[in-house]
Amino acid sequence: MSSSIVVVLDEAEAAARHDKGENAWWLYCTEVLDHVRLPYEVVERDDVRARLAEGNVLAVFPREGRVLSRAGETTFPADVWERIVTIQQGHPVEQDGPPAPDGSCPVDDGILKCDDGLALSYDERALPPGQVRVEGVFPHVYPPRAAAPIFHRPTADLLRLEFLTAVFDAAATAGLALPWLHYWPAGVPAVAHMSHDSDGNVSEHAEAGLRVFDEAGVKVTWCHCYPGGYRPEVVAEIAARGHEQALHYNAMGDADIASWGWPQLRAQYAWVQALTGVEEIVSNKNHYTRWEGWDEFFLWCERVGIRIDQSRGPSKQGNVGFPFGSCHLWFPMAGPAERNRRIDVLELPLHTQDLAWASHESIRDVILDGVLEVHGVAHFLFHSAHLATKPYVAEACRQVAAEARRRGMPWWTSKQLNAWERARRGVRLTTLPGSSDGELRVEVTAQAAIDQAGVVLAWPGLTPDATFRVTEGKATARVVTRHGRHVLELAADLPAGVSRFTVAAG
Ligand SMILES: [Zn+2]
Repeated sequence: MSSSIVVVLDEAEAAARHDKGENAWWLYCTEVLDHVRLPYEVVERDDVRARLAEGNVLAVFPREGRVLSRAGETTFPADVWERIVTIQQGHPVEQDGPPAPDGSCPVDDGILKCDDGLALSYDERALPPGQVRVEGVFPHVYPPRAAAPIFHRPTADLLRLEFLTAVFDAAATAGLALPWLHYWPAGVPAVAHMSHDSDGNVSEHAEAGLRVFDEAGVKVTWCHCYPGGYRPEVVAEIAARGHEQALHYNAMGDADIASWGWPQLRAQYAWVQALTGVEEIVSNKNHYTRWEGWDEFFLWCERVGIRIDQSRGPSKQGNVGFPFGSCHLWFPMAGPAERNRRIDVLELPLHTQDLAWASHESIRDVILDGVLEVHGVAHFLFHSAHLATKPYVAEACRQVAAEARRRGMPWWTSKQLNAWERARRGVRLTTLPGSSDGELRVEVTAQAAIDQAGVVLAWPGLTPDATFRVTEGKATARVVTRHGRHVLELAADLPAGVSRFTVAAG
C-alpha cells in the first residue's frame, strides 16, 4: 500500500512543548490534511529518506514549513498553523476586547463573548462593493443606517490553502497525482446553512417564523433558548415542518442556571431534550455568542454530547462576515493541558445575524461569494422575533435563500452538515501502484456509505477540455475547478468498505 504523503510531526518536540505548557501548533497540520482527505501517514524523521527513495512520495515537515519530493523542495510559512488556529479559535476571552476605532464594533459591552477574543485586526476589513464610508463615528444602531466594513475574506481558510498549494505544487513538480475528497456532494460547489434563535420564546413569533422559512424553502436549525420555551404544539410543529431541534445555550445571567458553567450547560441540554422530546440534540449556538476562556466550551460540548457548535460569529455590525476567518467545518484544538488534541466537536462558523436588522444587507453577497470561492458553508442566523415584526427582515430571509440557490448552494441543517462531514472523515483515498501517465487507479475505503461523493484527482498538467473514461468502478468523471485548479472529479456512490476506480485519459 503506498501513501502519497508522509508527515513528520516531531512528536518528541511537541511533548516537550506541552510539558512546558506551550502549544505545538504544527500538530494542527493533521486537521488540515484530514479535512481535505489527502492521504498521509505520520512517520519518524529518520524514515523520510527511505520513503522519498520510493519515488511517488511527498514529505511534509509542518514545523519547518517544508515539503520535500525527489524533485526538490517547496516551502510555506511555518507559522501558518498558529495563525490558522488563533484566527479560528481567537485569543482566550477573559475581558472585553478592544472596540474598533471607527465605532462599528462596540464589543466593550461588559458581556464576554466570541468577538472579545478576535485575533484578526479591524484593518483587515473592507466595505461591501458600492458602499460609502461613514464620516466620523459609525452609527451602531438597529437597523443599520449604513454598511460597516466587513471581514470579507476567510483568512484562515486561505491560510490552509497556502499550505495546500505548497503540497499540490510539490506534487505537480514531482509528476505525482494526489487524490482528495470534495467537501460536498459531487458537483455542489458550496452549501448554505440557516439557523434560528428563539430569544424571548414568543409562540406567535415562532409561527410567523415557520411561515417565512416555508416561503424561503429552507429547513433551519432551530436553537431553543432557556428559560421558558414555546407552547408544546409549536415545538412539535417545528419538527413536523422538517426543522432541526437544537440548543441555544444561555449564559446571560437572566435566569437560574443561565450562567457560564459546565453544570449549567448540562442542565440546559437536559432541558432542551425534555422540551423537544429529542434525545440526540447534536447542535448548539450560544445566546449572544457568549464565550469565556479558550477551549473549555468545546470540551464541555464534547462531554455533554453536542456534536457541532455554531457559536463562533459576530455580535456587532462591524464584525460580520468572516471574523474568525473560516467558512469550513473544523475540529478545534485543545490547549497544552490536553496536549493539543483535537476536540470531537465540529465548529460551524456563523457569518451574520439577521440581515437588514443586525447587519446591512449589502454584506449578503460578500458572504455568499466568499464562501463559494473556497467551497465552504455560508451561515445566516435569523430570529423569529424580527421575522414576525419586521417585513424587511422576512424579505431579506427569502432573498438570501434564493441567492444561495442561484449560486448552486443547497441549504443544509447543522445535523446534515455534521453527518456529512463525519462520514467524509471516514473516507480514505489511496492511489494504487500500476498507475501510469495515461491511467490512474484509486482505492477508496469508506467507513460508512456516502451518496454522490466527489473523489477529486489532482492530475498534473490537466487541461479543462481533457476527456476521461472510467474503466473500472461505477462513477462519472468530469473536469471541474476546485480551489482555482482544474481537477478531475469522480462522482460515485460509495458503499461502506472498499471501492476501486481506474480512470484513463482520452
Ligand atoms: Zn440569542
